[in-house]
Amino acid sequence: MENTDTPKAPLSWDEYFMLQAMMSSFRSKDPSTKVGSVFVDKHNHQISMGYNGFIAGIDESQLPWTKDLDQGLVNTKYGYVVHAEANAILHAPRSLEGSRCYVTLFPCNECAKLIASKKVSEVIYLSDKHQDKEHTIVAKKIFDLSGIKYRSMEVTHKLLERLQEHLEKLLHDVQFGGKV
Ligand SMILES: [Zn+2]
Repeated sequence: MENTDTPKAPLSWDEYFMLQAMMSSFRSKDPSTKVGSVFVDKHNHQISMGYNGFIAGIDESQLPWTKDLDQGLVNTKYGYVVHAEANAILHAPRSLEGSRCYVTLFPCNECAKLIASKKVSEVIYLSDKHQDKEHTIVAKKIFDLSGIKYRSMEVTHKLLERLQEHLEKLLHDVQFGGKV
């Protein structure tokens, strides 16, 4: 008989924090691009999280989500949205010096300025889909000049399946008190 109780390998810290960044992107109301970010200290304690959204506390009903710059900056989201990394930095309760930044999309140059100013040590990203755009090229130059390391990582479907299995078991245990 197959032993179904064999413990599975735990998550790596990279997987754990990238999943946290992905969860934080889930909070974003941006209909086109949802980005999440988590800052972690050298002891693997989470310092801060953020996702892209309108300025905290502002009346969002007055603001547009449109991306069409032909309508003028004043009528697009670009005038008012704070990026995931910027939000995490703004709301960090303590120093980010030496921390790692997990982010679902490679930072733009504006966020790279903040990340470098905060003396973050490493950026770990999921997607680099804007790698040919100037704001990404400038961001990499900022990181290179500041000695900030950056690397991509993958979140596999296998990991997501394991997570789903875990969450379903957890829910089942909550509902049925662990009785099968
Ligand atoms: Zn940015």
